[in-house]
Amino acid sequence: MQPTHTQVAEPATDPVTAQTVTPARALRAAALHLTRHGWVQGSYYDQTAAVFTPAACVVGAIGMVCYGGPVEAPAQHFDQPGWAEFEAAVTHLDRFVSAWHGADSAYGFNDEPGRNAQEVLDVLAEAADVWELLHVSCPVCGEPVYSRPPTDWHMPESWPVPAYSHRDGTPLCPVSGSDGVTPALPVLAGGA
Ligand SMILES: [Zn+2]
Repeated sequence: MQPTHTQVAEPATDPVTAQTVTPARALRAAALHLTRHGWVQGSYYDQTAAVFTPAACVVGAIGMVCYGGPVEAPAQHFDQPGWAEFEAAVTHLDRFVSAWHGADSAYGFNDEPGRNAQEVLDVLAEAADVWELLHVSCPVCGEPVYSRPPTDWHMPESWPVPAYSHRDGTPLCPVSGSDGVTPALPVLAGGA
């Protein structure tokens, strides 16, 4: 990574919208891609697929969600929109699988003989949870939050379902704004 690309978030000041592509959001979206379109080993994408949403390996799936489509050698697209998000997500996943699963990298974890798709999905969810536990919090109570819709959301359908919830599934603490009283937007705590 070039020094000019270093992203350092000020503690607890950057609001995170539902659209912000954090490493955790990229990993969860990659899991969704694998669930919907399938998982492969040994290459980024299913080489026989003629569709825009091919089955992918875990790194290929992260590339799909960050670049918006399949690209050759997704780690090499330094100047494309989405590269910083791709790099941050893969770097976090590399660290996670090496610390907790004894793999040398996300590629190695994906391609290990005997690996199955469910193990890959589980690791993506765990890695996303860990990233959010460390980096995203509710600005009111300071609790860590997860990018999962609240489990007890009972507002009328015209209200958008929040992208984030407290760890116990409740919406983020209420704040008053131009739209009235709404759940707070989470904030990034510490660097990426
Ligand atoms: Zn809160």
